[in-house]
Amino acid sequence: MTRPCFIANWKMNKTHKETEAFLHAFNRLSTKSPSDPADVLIAPPFTALSEAAKTLHEIKSDIGLAAQNVHNEKAGAFTGEISSDMLCALGCGSVIIGHSERRQLFGETNALIHRKLMAAQTAGLRPIFCIGESAEERQAGQTWAIIEKQLSEGLGADTLKVDFKEKISDWLIAYEPVWAIGTGQTPSPEETAEVHKQVGDFFAKRYETVPPRILYGGSVSEKNVEAFMKEKAIDGALIGGASLSVDSFFQIVALGARTKRQAAPAPNSR
Ligand code: PEP
Repeated sequence: MTRPCFIANWKMNKTHKETEAFLHAFNRLSTKSPSDPADVLIAPPFTALSEAAKTLHEIKSDIGLAAQNVHNEKAGAFTGEISSDMLCALGCGSVIIGHSERRQLFGETNALIHRKLMAAQTAGLRPIFCIGESAEERQAGQTWAIIEKQLSEGLGADTLKVDFKEKISDWLIAYEPVWAIGTGQTPSPEETAEVHKQVGDFFAKRYETVPPRILYGGSVSEKNVEAFMKEKAIDGALIGGASLSVDSFFQIVALGARTKRQAAPAPNSR
């Protein structure tokens, strides 16, 4: 079974103190009712990363820490920006890159996303690379064309180098249809799985290695997580709104991980 992965993307929500309280509460729930195996990551705002790292260490939690953004340069005169090295130094292991809010609200292009992906990888930060089509693109039947463009331009020619192949399997890809983010609308699990299979095939063909895990993101909740996780091609979820409540996020992880374990084929079965 591929180990499922659930990531909380808090966007511009929660202070460092609220982050600390959330992690203590999540830890209490996990101790009381341990979940099936899963990787759990939280992506709080930059201002809460340090407190989150400290708290996770104190409570001996294996929750991973992710940033929501990173600059593409290593250091320099970029007022207000944060580098990959700064994030690594804080104990941050992953970073979300290419989220649709960054693409839409902050004008991030595939070319810039490529530079950010390379900067993160070079520093040893695992990218959580977000892709997804808008409602108009979907209606025009362009879903795969848009995703393929985001993937090929985001990855760029540099990632075809031989030494890169070993790293790509560890990345996380988040398929997030723009129209599903924060709207309560979702594609069906079957439609989602079709896109995930295309993404997986893209990676397998391009790198001839184990594809990265592919997560679904867009209005995931306690109510729909099991239906998505029943699909073999869906390796986990990136959760926005519902991850702000500790009870909801805990439930999503518990239900999602349980569904994945139940859906895994028994040893020796085909
Ligand atoms: C997101 O922001 O990545 C996201 C999936 O948000 P939501 O779960 O609120 O749709």
